[in-house]
Amino acid sequence: MSGALPYAMVGGGVGSFIGAVHRHALALDGRARLVAGAFSSTAERSKESGAALGVDPGRAYGSYQEMIAGESGRADRPAFVVIVTPNDTHYPIAKACLEGGFGVVCDKPFTITSGEARELGAIAKQRGLLCAVTYNYSGYPMVREARARVASGELGAVRKVFVEYHQGWLATALESGGQKQAAWRTDPKRAGIGGSLGDIGTHAEHLVRFVTGLDVESVCADLTSFVAGRALDDDASVLMRLSGGANGTLTCSQVCVGEANGLSIRVYGERGGLVWCQEQPEELAITRSDGSRTVFVRGSEGLSEHAGASTRLPSGHPEGFIEAFGNLYLGVFEAIGAEGDRGVLSDLLPTASDGALGVRFVEACVRSARDGTCWTTV
Ligand code: NAD
Repeated sequence: MSGALPYAMVGGGVGSFIGAVHRHALALDGRARLVAGAFSSTAERSKESGAALGVDPGRAYGSYQEMIAGESGRADRPAFVVIVTPNDTHYPIAKACLEGGFGVVCDKPFTITSGEARELGAIAKQRGLLCAVTYNYSGYPMVREARARVASGELGAVRKVFVEYHQGWLATALESGGQKQAAWRTDPKRAGIGGSLGDIGTHAEHLVRFVTGLDVESVCADLTSFVAGRALDDDASVLMRLSGGANGTLTCSQVCVGEANGLSIRVYGERGGLVWCQEQPEELAITRSDGSRTVFVRGSEGLSEHAGASTRLPSGHPEGFIEAFGNLYLGVFEAIGAEGDRGVLSDLLPTASDGALGVRFVEACVRSARDGTCWTTV
């Protein structure tokens, strides 16, 4: 681990959700080590979390501002900062990190407004710094295989896309009982103007663009808050017009009782189709006009270069959520020029511009719904 890249984290303290996933993913290949952080919204919990994670007490800071001040002058300063805090804090934290000369890897939705997202992208570009957004579902080998097959023309020109992301965990007013992940996700001041749209719809939107290579040009959205008293949507149905004349539907919902993390995509072109489901991520089905259906399995022979480079274990030894996250980090290491990279993964890394498109998608859907569910340009 001594040659491993040092990184810092903001958020991800004890009792939080996604920070630990990032840490596991970063540890997978022995290429990075956590050296500093501002792990929590309170200084005390940040220090407690740092101790639990084995971080030098002098580098577990009370706030991200203190962290940037403390780490900036060090010879062994972090190569990048991972931001895993609630949505409203992404912009100020990422801005301060970039202005302090640190590259960032930020979770989604990238920012609250698309203007903020554009600004962060511009700062990163001007300073030549990494600015990646963790649309982690694009890290699955068989999603990368799907992208390669569409790009190769195997399906013909894309006509129709169905993407759905259905969960059930917010089917009741969990937020009133003090569940903290539910509390900030249903609060417009912390989550932004999208509820389910921002939280999971942005993943679905990115998956459409990633797999098909098409842009989401306009949307017609119907948003609902099923749970009484909720200010943000917990359910969304969106028609989409895509570039090149294709169209699609995106549904995201957090009130589908019994659904866990039901993300799936189906793409149909002139000659064939494909189906991928997040809860069976090792398989990609390809359908053809002669009625045949072939299921390709991760780790098997003959898959694309990107799928191959995103695979660690032979087929039959299941890989999953953490490995997919780890594949995004392989792209990060490559993008910042770390030694020993696999050479082809940084071109798949979701960027600030992908993050901005996600926020613009949310903004367009909310505008469409407010204007009576009419077609709205993204
Ligand atoms: P969480 O509530 O579980 O954790 C948030 C953490 O951030 C907590 O430790 C909290 O103390 C800390 N925090 C809050 N404000 C802070 C500040 N100013 N400075 C330092 N730390 C601060 O939230 P979560 O579910 O882990 O979500 C975090 C982010 O990750 C959100 O933007 C969310 O949308 C995103 N997320 C992404 C995925 C994914 O699959 N990519 C999954 C879940 C969450």
